[in-house]
Amino acid sequence: MDLATFRADFGRWMTDHAAELERFQRLPTDLDGQFAVLGDLQRVLFDAGWLRWGWPEALGGLGGSSLLRGVLSEELAAAGCPPPFSFGMMEVLAPAVVRFAPEIASWALPALLRGGEAWCQGFSEPEAGSDLASLRLRAVDEGSAFRVNGQKVWTSWAQYATRCILLARTGTAEEAREPHLPPPRQDHRGITALFVDMDSPGVTVRPLRAMSGDAEFAEMFFDDVMVPKERVIGSVGGGWAVTMYVLSCERGAVAWQRQAWMHRRLADLLAAAGGGPGSERAVPEKVPGKAAEKAAAWAGEAFANLYALRLASRRTFRRLDSGEIPGPDASIDKILMASAEQFLFDGALEIVPEALLTGDDADARTWRTDYFYSRAATIYGGTSEIQRNIVAEHLLGLPRG
Ligand SMILES: Cc1cc2nc3c(=O)[nH]c(=O)nc-3n(C[C@H](O)[C@H](O)[C@H](O)COP(=O)(O)OP(=O)(O)OC[C@H]3O[C@@H](n4cnc5c(N)ncnc54)[C@H](O)[C@@H]3O)c2cc1C
Repeated sequence: MDLATFRADFGRWMTDHAAELERFQRLPTDLDGQFAVLGDLQRVLFDAGWLRWGWPEALGGLGGSSLLRGVLSEELAAAGCPPPFSFGMMEVLAPAVVRFAPEIASWALPALLRGGEAWCQGFSEPEAGSDLASLRLRAVDEGSAFRVNGQKVWTSWAQYATRCILLARTGTAEEAREPHLPPPRQDHRGITALFVDMDSPGVTVRPLRAMSGDAEFAEMFFDDVMVPKERVIGSVGGGWAVTMYVLSCERGAVAWQRQAWMHRRLADLLAAAGGGPGSERAVPEKVPGKAAEKAAAWAGEAFANLYALRLASRRTFRRLDSGEIPGPDASIDKILMASAEQFLFDGALEIVPEALLTGDDADARTWRTDYFYSRAATIYGGTSEIQRNIVAEHLLGLPRG
C-alpha cells in the first residue's frame, strides 16, 4: 500500500465514521479516563485494520512501510483525535523488540497493537538519567533465569503497563569499574535489555504525581524478580545497541507524531485567539505582544518551529524505515521538538491565560496539561543540554567539556 492511497483510504474511513470518532476529540481530563477512552480508540482502529499496517505480516501486521503509521497519526491529529498513549510506546519500544527479539515480538506485538496490553520503558534510575550507562539495577545469572534487583524512576505510565523493557546490569562489577573507557565503554558492554512482565512477583510500582497533578510516571522497585532467559532482547551484554535503537525511534516516529499533534494544537490556539484557518481575521488579536505585527510574527515563528521539526523528524523516520540507524544528528530533532513545544505552549499562556491559569472546564484543563507537559520536553528522552553536547562533540567536532 503506498502512502497516498493509504492516506486517501483512511481519510474516507474517518469521514464515514465521523460520528463514532467524535467522542475521541473530547477526552476526559483525568489520566485514568484518558487511558480508557484512548484505549477504545486504539481498539476501534485495530478492529478496522488500520493499526496493523506498517508492521511485518509475520508478526500479525499487514506489512507495508512503517511510514504508513506516520500517516495514520498525522491524519488522526488533523481530525482532532490525539494519539492513544500506547502509540508512543508502540513507536518507541516495539521496533526494538521486532528488530532484536522477533520471537518475543511474534506473540507480544499483536497484543500490543490490539490494545490488549501496554508497555513501559524502564531505563532511568535515581542516579542514572543523562548518564544512563551508569545504571545499577542488577540482573544476576541463575541458570535459566535472571534474578533482578534494583530501582527505576520516571517510568511513564508504568501503573498501566503489562510489560517493561528493562535495562539491567549483567556484567560484573569489575567490568563496570574498568577505568580505561575507549568506546565501547566497559559499562556499556555489561548492560542487558529484558522484557519483563509487570505482574511478576517482586515488582512494585509507585506512581509519582507531577506538577500537573497527574501521576504520569512512576518509580518501580524490583525485589528478587525472576526473568526467564528467553526474555532477553538482543544478546546478554548487548543492551546498549537496543538502547540506542530505542532512542533513535523516539527521535523519528515519536517526534513525527508529536509535531502532527502540535500542528493541531497551534490551529486550536489560533482559533481560540480569533484567528487561524477559517477565521476572517488573518492575525489573532490576543497573541503575545498585543501589537498585530508581533502577533503575526509569533504565529509565524510557532509554525516555522513545527515545520522545522516536521522536516527533521521526517528525515529520521525515513532513515529508520530504510533500515538505517540514525546517528548523532537525530539529537537535533530532539532539540527542535523541545523548543517547538515550549514556544507553542508559552504562547498558550499568553493567548488563553484565564483558561490556562484558572479555568476549570475541559478545554482549560487540557491547555494546562499541555503547558505543564511542555516543561518536561527539555528533559524526557534525553535533556536538551545532553543533546547539545552530542551535537557539539559529534557533529561540530568541538572538544569535550
Ligand atoms: C515527563 C517525563 C517522562 C519520562 N519518562 C521516562 C520513561 O518512560 N522511562 C525512563 O526510563 N525515563 C523517563 N524519564 C526520565 C528522563 O529520561 C530523565 O529525566 C532524563 O534522561 C534526565 O535524567 P535525570 O532526570 O536523572 O537528570 P540528570 O541526568 O541528573 O540531569 C540533571 C541536570 O543536569 C544536566 N546535565 C547532566 N549531565 C550533563 C552534562 N554532561 N553536561 C551538561 N548538562 C548535564 C541535565 O541536562 C539536567 O539539566 C522521563 C522524564 C520525564 C520528565
